[in-house]
Amino acid sequence: GMFLGRYAVNPVNGEKIPIWAADYVMIDYGTGAIMAVPAHDHRDFEFARQYDIEIRTVIEPLDPAAASPDEPYIGPGVMVNSGAFDGTPVDVAVGVVTEWLEAQGLGRAAKNFRIRDWLISRQRYWGTPIPIVFCERCGEVPVPEEDLPVVLPDDVDFRPTGEDSPLASATEWVNVACPKCAGAARRETDTMDTFVDSSWYFNRYVDPHNEKLPFDPEVADAWMPADQYTGGIEHAVLHLIYARFFQKVLVDLGMASAPEPFPNLLNQGTITMGGKRMSKSRGNLVDPSEAFERYGADSLRLYMLFSGPPEQDFDWPDEGVRSIGRVAYPWLQRVWRLCEDNRDVVSVGNLNQSPLDEALTRQVHRTIRVVSEDFERFSFNTAIARLHELVNHAYRYRAAGGGHPGVMRELIEALLKLLAPMAPHITEELWHRRGHQDSIHTQKWPVFDPDLASLEQVTMVVQVNGKVRDKLEVPAGITEEEMKVRALSSDKVSAQLQGREPRKVIVKPPKLISLVV
Ligand SMILES: [Zn+2]
Repeated sequence: GMFLGRYAVNPVNGEKIPIWAADYVMIDYGTGAIMAVPAHDHRDFEFARQYDIEIRTVIEPLDPAAASPDEPYIGPGVMVNSGAFDGTPVDVAVGVVTEWLEAQGLGRAAKNFRIRDWLISRQRYWGTPIPIVFCERCGEVPVPEEDLPVVLPDDVDFRPTGEDSPLASATEWVNVACPKCAGAARRETDTMDTFVDSSWYFNRYVDPHNEKLPFDPEVADAWMPADQYTGGIEHAVLHLIYARFFQKVLVDLGMASAPEPFPNLLNQGTITMGGKRMSKSRGNLVDPSEAFERYGADSLRLYMLFSGPPEQDFDWPDEGVRSIGRVAYPWLQRVWRLCEDNRDVVSVGNLNQSPLDEALTRQVHRTIRVVSEDFERFSFNTAIARLHELVNHAYRYRAAGGGHPGVMRELIEALLKLLAPMAPHITEELWHRRGHQDSIHTQKWPVFDPDLASLEQVTMVVQVNGKVRDKLEVPAGITEEEMKVRALSSDKVSAQLQGREPRKVIVKPPKLISLVV
């Protein structure tokens, strides 16, 4: 550091403060000038010690033993050696001192952003042309709006030369008439950084054929913001910040109304092998084509989805592609056999269901419910675990003599639809083998019956004038209103009421409802 031979005046107490130049103070942070506090900052402390500058304690810890003359004190405490502010706790003092400075007209609170200008021009062919024309007489002239967009020429050697932009060699494209004076002019030959395009492409994607505008704000408003955004954590400091800036500018321009482009973000984890990113040169690679040939693409997908939550990193086992053969591949074969062995059972209407049939039906509806919830929170590994359970139930049901055609049909079709997003090929094949002509991927997502999907059934007793008249199986989470509806629609209860409205209804969910007439 170097003493500049000059002093600043502390506006609070009028004391002179020496001004030093120091290499640890960042020129682009704030104004580039800082007020050092040597007693309470590590770098200021080291600097003051080296240049023999006064180290004045202004914060005293509540426990005096916490302070040491050999190092700065960083923790909480109260102000000392600070005149009128003595005794003020540090966390309060920042606000109090700022208010005092504002009241005296000596300063004000300000927000500092740690952001810098972004140089967007690149010497590349593949980028959006910068719509500026250079005229000898008029200088830099923007291309008029009616001439936008400027389209890249397609007769260019676009390999980088290391010097000029490849566009500089496209003479016919470069030489244009000045939009202002019609004299000889040249186009800007740099193109924009592709980060410019990725900062607003989502608005264009919802209106991709618009030839008049980047996008129609009304169309964009109907779709935006994006419901869900997925990407690697490496985008956190560049793309996602740029995209948010652009969206806010578009809002200011009246072209968009959603202030945030991506309200929901999922950062997916990285798949590694031996703790390192897979790469050909390192040889720590799972060759997808080997996986496809040996086990099929669906097995590979299922294996990866089953390996853990998507936001977690996953280290592929050393055995490589063979690990797919342990669970994912045999399980898909098990699904195949289940579907094929029960292909020809046709639903013949509402056959009476045995308790075994009912139990399996409940399992189907419960599975639809929990797998749907798993999908909503990207919990594909637990969704697959539920489908494993469902398939186990189906095999046990068959082994126990179960074979209700309607029940098996409902189970298999629900299983295939729930599995389809994760194993698209095998489910499509099995769907068609069941006689369907259209694609499984255009089917509606299966719907569960809340009663059947309810985890627990209880017996609800219905009394009329103190006597038990009916017992009904209801879901444990039944509401009072639903209990009344069920009780009043019971034939046995209706027979007792004979059209009379109950004078009084006592409901004790979920097990008792008592009607008084
Ligand atoms: Zn001109």
